[in-house]
Amino acid sequence: MPQPVTVHVPLGDRAYDVVIGEGLIADAAARIAPLLRRPRVAIVTDETVAPLHLGRLTAALDAAGIDSVSLALPAGEGTKSWPHLTHCVDWLLEQKVERRDVVIALGGGVIGDLVGFAASILRRGVRFVQIPTTLLAQVDSSVGGKTGINSTHGKNLIGAFHQPSLVLADIGVLDTLRPRDFLAGYGEVAKYGLLGDADFFEWLEINAPLLQDDLTARQHAIAHSVAMKAGIVTRDETEQGERALLNLGHTFGHALEKATGYSDRLLHGEGVAIGCALAFDLSARMGLCSQEAPSRVLEHLHRMGMPARLSDIPGDLPGDDELIALMGQDKKVVDGQLRFVLARDIGEAFVCDDAVPDLLRAVLADAR
Ligand code: NAD
Repeated sequence: MPQPVTVHVPLGDRAYDVVIGEGLIADAAARIAPLLRRPRVAIVTDETVAPLHLGRLTAALDAAGIDSVSLALPAGEGTKSWPHLTHCVDWLLEQKVERRDVVIALGGGVIGDLVGFAASILRRGVRFVQIPTTLLAQVDSSVGGKTGINSTHGKNLIGAFHQPSLVLADIGVLDTLRPRDFLAGYGEVAKYGLLGDADFFEWLEINAPLLQDDLTARQHAIAHSVAMKAGIVTRDETEQGERALLNLGHTFGHALEKATGYSDRLLHGEGVAIGCALAFDLSARMGLCSQEAPSRVLEHLHRMGMPARLSDIPGDLPGDDELIALMGQDKKVVDGQLRFVLARDIGEAFVCDDAVPDLLRAVLADAR
């Protein structure tokens, strides 16, 4: 069994560790106890994760003399919404969670984003621990402090920066994920290679098919992704510059998620994968990168069994004008101008404010 790896996120008085390893839930009490002012925590999870992993966490806390109360919200993107946020905050208040207490988010990116946001507004901010249980949450959403919910106007439009106090990424819990959810998270892993590390992408081209079974390869992929994210977040915590690169594939992906109603037709990580392929296609058409780069991206995603083209999404999609209008709702829009993360090569992404509209239409037409 590989030993746990720790990635430190050095953000001054908001610094924290991300620990990546197998069996961390069973071992959680020893790592959480130093954060507690009294032996009591409130855990928020979802109804799918609760029967699978909550019992081991509460048993481990209990054995260490830490009381816990827990709430399981419905699973799925629809939970990142006002009604569930209100429910979660009211429940935390009912449980008498105090300013100096710690809230634990046990689940995927939906629970992490929602609970982190709830913690940021509860009594003007309480500390929280992320125990991410999806690949996507372990490599991306649990690190960096972006928290929030969706609005009818678009994804993640309501939220706050609130860094966790600790992240425990137990890589063994990923074994219970539906293969499709595991793969969707892989979209974000591939994104790291594509945006800033060609060697890592090359490693993934060889090793990614092993990630579902080989814990050593899985731990390496997760720890490397987390280290990349930690580096970017440390240099640009509130996305004034470099952090925007983490949105590679997201301008397309968020529009597609909205167009498919945040449903099972397209999972977030799948939207990111398709978005990465489209971003590389647009980059090549704009003469920014070689033609080989988008072909390599497309081939790798398809070899992994991931959707990479619009035609891989089941059902009808809106027309190009509507999709482009949906991209206009993206958080990155500045003065109404669409912003894309494009690339000069694999591993060399940059923010582009002047994507050529005709070429954008051509990319969408070809991907259908
Ligand atoms: P999710 O939380 O909905 O989890 C996917 C599904 O897997 C859910 O049905 C969940 O119940 C289930 N699940 C979770 N862990 C499981 C396990 N161990 N075994 C079995 N089933 C399990 O979705 P996600 O893909 O983890 O996260 C997507 C969300 O993350 C989106 O809302 C996205 O916007 C957000 N996100 C946030 C950031 C950030 O920086 N905050 C970054 C990327 C993505």
